[in-house]
Amino acid sequence: MSSVDFYKSIGLKVGLEIHVQLNTKRKLFCPCPTSEESTSSQVYSFKRYLRPARSETGEVDPAAMLEWKRSRAYIYNAPSPTTCLVEADEEPPHHVDEESLLTAIAVAKALNMELIDEIYVMRKIVVDGSNVSGFQRTMLVAFNGSITVEDRKIGIQTLCLEEDAAKKIEEKESEVYYSLERLGIPLIEIATSPDIDSPELALKTALKIGQLVRLTGKAKHGLGSIRQDINISIAGGAKIEVKGVQHLYLIPKVIEYEVQRQLKLLEIRSELLNRGVSEKDLLDDIVDVSELFKNSQSKIIKRALSLPNGAILAVKLPGFKGLLGREVQPGRRFGTELSDYAKVWGGVGGIIHTDELPGYGITSEDVVKLYEYIGADPNRDAIVLVADEKEKGVKALKAVVERARLALIGIPEETRAANPDGTTKYMRPRPGSARMYPETDIPPIRITSELVEKAKTLIPEHPDVKYKKLVEKHGLSKALADALINALELDFYEYLAEKYGDKVPYSVIASIFINTIPMLRREGIPIDEVDENTIERVVEAVARGVIAKEAIPDILAYIAKNPGTTVEQAINALGLKTTSVDELDKLIENIIASNKEKLLSKQSKAFNIVMSEVMKTMRGKVDGKLIADRVKVKLREVLNIEI
Ligand SMILES: [Zn+2]
Repeated sequence: MSSVDFYKSIGLKVGLEIHVQLNTKRKLFCPCPTSEESTSSQVYSFKRYLRPARSETGEVDPAAMLEWKRSRAYIYNAPSPTTCLVEADEEPPHHVDEESLLTAIAVAKALNMELIDEIYVMRKIVVDGSNVSGFQRTMLVAFNGSITVEDRKIGIQTLCLEEDAAKKIEEKESEVYYSLERLGIPLIEIATSPDIDSPELALKTALKIGQLVRLTGKAKHGLGSIRQDINISIAGGAKIEVKGVQHLYLIPKVIEYEVQRQLKLLEIRSELLNRGVSEKDLLDDIVDVSELFKNSQSKIIKRALSLPNGAILAVKLPGFKGLLGREVQPGRRFGTELSDYAKVWGGVGGIIHTDELPGYGITSEDVVKLYEYIGADPNRDAIVLVADEKEKGVKALKAVVERARLALIGIPEETRAANPDGTTKYMRPRPGSARMYPETDIPPIRITSELVEKAKTLIPEHPDVKYKKLVEKHGLSKALADALINALELDFYEYLAEKYGDKVPYSVIASIFINTIPMLRREGIPIDEVDENTIERVVEAVARGVIAKEAIPDILAYIAKNPGTTVEQAINALGLKTTSVDELDKLIENIIASNKEKLLSKQSKAFNIVMSEVMKTMRGKVDGKLIADRVKVKLREVLNIEI
């Protein structure tokens, strides 16, 4: 079965939420610049706590409740001039930035969306402290559009304009540190319908949407400027929201691994049902087994027992033997899923379960005694241990039992966080629906025909028009133009082509995005960490004749592997400074002189022999065509060989 058919057969449905930062002159609700670099060393900081409040319907959001139970303090750094009293929530928001609004309208038009008549700014509850006020301001601008990705029509549900959140700097057990520069930078949030049915299509859709926003000329470029959340479900599964996917190119991996996890969880569920396990078997009977382990040599156990209220707690999971050790994602087992709940809800470092014992200094003898003490069946049941302060341990094991109960239903709806390798971990329950309130400080905004008219100048050219230009004006091959028309960096290519096209061939510039960068990415080189300013410096070096175009891949790879290196430094480190024609001629003459007999006897192959010798030292330092020309000239001059 092909991979596309496989994903169809399991009923994969993926929806994307793409967030693109805007490069406007001011932030969405205040006059601060949208640059995240502070020019001043003036920083003050303040501390806040979050408290959950009931919604109009009397419910408390489960995600807010969880955060409150962790009772953490949030500490905010507020540097100037990138922040003011608005970010600190000490001053009401100003009127909505018009440049941002026009960009949102232009993108909505390009996505064939219906504009809202009157925009209401809303407050969306945020539970992790990333907004000082406890909510994020957002406004629905348009709805019901579509985008065509390789002949597939993908629905666009909504387009919102919202403020970016503060950036987390550090997280400790009881304190979280944020910096406020990023708070309030305008974001366009585009949510697709769950029409996407394969990991590859998800990536292509994300690239296309990102490209479209960038083509307005108002999008920020570089690391973190496009972020995405992915909603993933399969038939018989649950809707899982994955947050914090760092790179667009990680999207297929995240989906692939999430599908794998959901299929494994469904397998575990059938196995539990086959074993006759039912929800009523799973009890919160948490047993203190500290006494049993008082002479244990295990470091984890000893450390826990030395804590003021330290204890070793255990709970039985009847019928779960062997299942906790089952892999659900590469390097993550079902036991890891339980452990995530223990960490989030109990604040413990993790759990130990009998599928991984003996281990951690716990002997098989200890395990036998543990089963006896708890009254569990060693052939059928699993036992989970937590070694920590007693109060935390109880919370942790209750969460473990709750997660085990959910395994009988199938897949719990969760918000998960993406790990850098594409696997995910439990973050919090999916937030309830009662999370939006009107923002009373900002009056509604009418989308007038005047605004729509103004926005038209920002609507990107149709791809067909661009394609024609790439082929006819820039002379790109159809293959290169095709690839470029679908590339995220199309706008950046256009910028570079405009600025350096008279000195660097268009095909060389295009090839950076279509061949070089994807090749380096496939080789596992962190090329996405290299910012576009650096890429421009490389192109500029080619334009100035400092390096040959052949040196581009090596320089980019070097900078990616050595963050912080400048293009100049990379050129020097790699010894890639171009060689003068005189030096090149001298080298060719030497090679001809020392191979004279051979070359004269093999007339027709002389060119190849000399060429391959020259390339050994000159690859990347001199343009390949120039070398070929000089070799031909010298062979004629010195040996009278005509090529
Ligand atoms: Zn401000």
